[in-house]
Amino acid sequence: FNTERFGQHILKNPLVAQGIVDKANLRPTDKVLEVGPGTGNLTVRILEKAKHVTAVEMDPRMAAELTKRVQGKPEQRKLDIIIGDFVKADLPYFDVCISNTPYQISSPLVFRLLSHRPLCRVAILMFQREFALRLVARPGTELWSRLSANVQLYSKVDHIMKVGKNNFRPAPKVESSVVRIAPLDPPPPVKFEEFDGLNRIIFSRRNKTIHASFMAKGVIDMMESNWRTWCSEQNQMIEDDVDMKSNVEKVLNETGFSESRAAKMDVDDLLKLLSAFHDAGIHFA
Ligand code: SAM
Repeated sequence: FNTERFGQHILKNPLVAQGIVDKANLRPTDKVLEVGPGTGNLTVRILEKAKHVTAVEMDPRMAAELTKRVQGKPEQRKLDIIIGDFVKADLPYFDVCISNTPYQISSPLVFRLLSHRPLCRVAILMFQREFALRLVARPGTELWSRLSANVQLYSKVDHIMKVGKNNFRPAPKVESSVVRIAPLDPPPPVKFEEFDGLNRIIFSRRNKTIHASFMAKGVIDMMESNWRTWCSEQNQMIEDDVDMKSNVEKVLNETGFSESRAAKMDVDDLLKLLSAFHDAGIHFA
């Protein structure tokens, strides 16, 4: 059986396991979603504090071990185990998500949590250190990236704990960190695909000017084709002599972001730029 494929690094340090669960500030009424419970080191601690836990585990052997661990105990009734891939599983209602996440699904996990409705109150998640630092990075710092901006558009993210590799068996190759993600509720009324589409263009060269990013090969052509699709979806007339390059430059000049760099723009700047493009009928998805 392939430990690496499933990212099976069991958390051996009870103090760290308890620390993670404590950080969730669970209420007795809470329903909790746990991703990848493994042998249940976090699960048994969550069950002590919460009303109910749904645990999604891909490896049936791990699920069997967890089942055995609660069998015959009062907690048994509070636990549902879904055997399967979290990425494809139907999710129940939950107030809080806790996960020592297999690193292969870090990104899908975060974006699934942020698009799930109703939104959860908070998620306490263990990631590889590097991924965690990108999630919490602030504009103007080295790790501020498309991932940081996309996640911080919809949530408040905090780094809450470093966890060294020796707290796991087997020890992974990389260090880990625990982050707290609190989704903004209500979420900003921005379509993720649009915000991400803009970010794809300007963060692919984060230290270049926004103007230079838009002038890169293929970008204007892609925007023109998006625009044609958008016009036909809206049943709008398409002018033959559209000059997308100058339309884009006009937006950049009017917003004053032409000479800015994504590396230093915060979420509000990005939203202003996106909304100016939308006002000009220019879309990114
Ligand atoms: N939570 C346990 C702990 O802290 O000791 C185990 C953590 S281990 C890093 C990750 C767990 O996620 C493993 O049990 C693995 O089988 C499971 N897993 C891996 N990929 C998964 C997926 N796509 N969906 C659900 N579970 C997955």
